[in-house]
Amino acid sequence: MPKLSDVITALEEVYPPQWAESWDAVGLVCGDPQAEVSRVLFAVDPVQAVVDEAVEWGADLVVTHHPLYLRGTTSVAATTFKGRVVHTLITNGIALHVAHTNADHADPGVSDALAEAVGLRVTGPLVPDPTDPLGRRGTGRIGLLEPPLTLSAFAAQVAEGLPATAAGVRVSGDPDRLISRVAVCGGSGDGFFAEVRAAGVDAYLTADLRHHPASEATEAAPVALVDAAHWATEWPWLTLAERALRAVADKRGWAVETKVSHRVTDPWTAHAPMSFTA
Ligand SMILES: [Zn+2]
Repeated sequence: MPKLSDVITALEEVYPPQWAESWDAVGLVCGDPQAEVSRVLFAVDPVQAVVDEAVEWGADLVVTHHPLYLRGTTSVAATTFKGRVVHTLITNGIALHVAHTNADHADPGVSDALAEAVGLRVTGPLVPDPTDPLGRRGTGRIGLLEPPLTLSAFAAQVAEGLPATAAGVRVSGDPDRLISRVAVCGGSGDGFFAEVRAAGVDAYLTADLRHHPASEATEAAPVALVDAAHWATEWPWLTLAERALRAVADKRGWAVETKVSHRVTDPWTAHAPMSFTA
């Protein structure tokens, strides 16, 4: 059975903390490096529902994509939900480790998993990492849809390929337009419209698109937009991360069980359709 420090070393070989953005907070949040690890749970959000699942399953380590504390705090008292998460973890001997923008930038990373889940063949990063001489790492990906599909068929394929959420998938553009080249970015992607435009893709699949960036992007260039739930666009990475840890565990003969959380932690819980004809 490996120690927590062994498992963290293995995870950081795949997702080195130095690949994270300077504002990010990745790595070990709580846990004793000397503790033994036999069960690892992978989840997007370090929220109470996920921590409760970890306790029920008997996990020793939870690996999440999102940080628990992105900015500093002066208290982890259980009077706040984050403090309650910390208390639940420590009381039950569970460690928490975060791989966020370092997992976004990895090859393969969060957007590779998203591209694969919706049937795209990745050709390269959307925003290459200047520190990568091979040009493979970076934020977002560009992929090919083979054969091309109409926008409405591609949106249906996205909805089918991602885990179901109440928000569903929003689409902007002519439903009959043929989509062949697609930019994808797991998580909030409305900061990359300049790169999407420069890439000359037919469609952009991401999450959290706000009115003004989306409106300006579609006015400036005829790009179709496909906007899924933030949680859903990052969830496919969990299996990728699990597989990466499993490969190390099998090679080193570790008796470690792994599991991907299926609890939907997207904050949107319902969707009221309106009668509307475009
Ligand atoms: Zn995210």
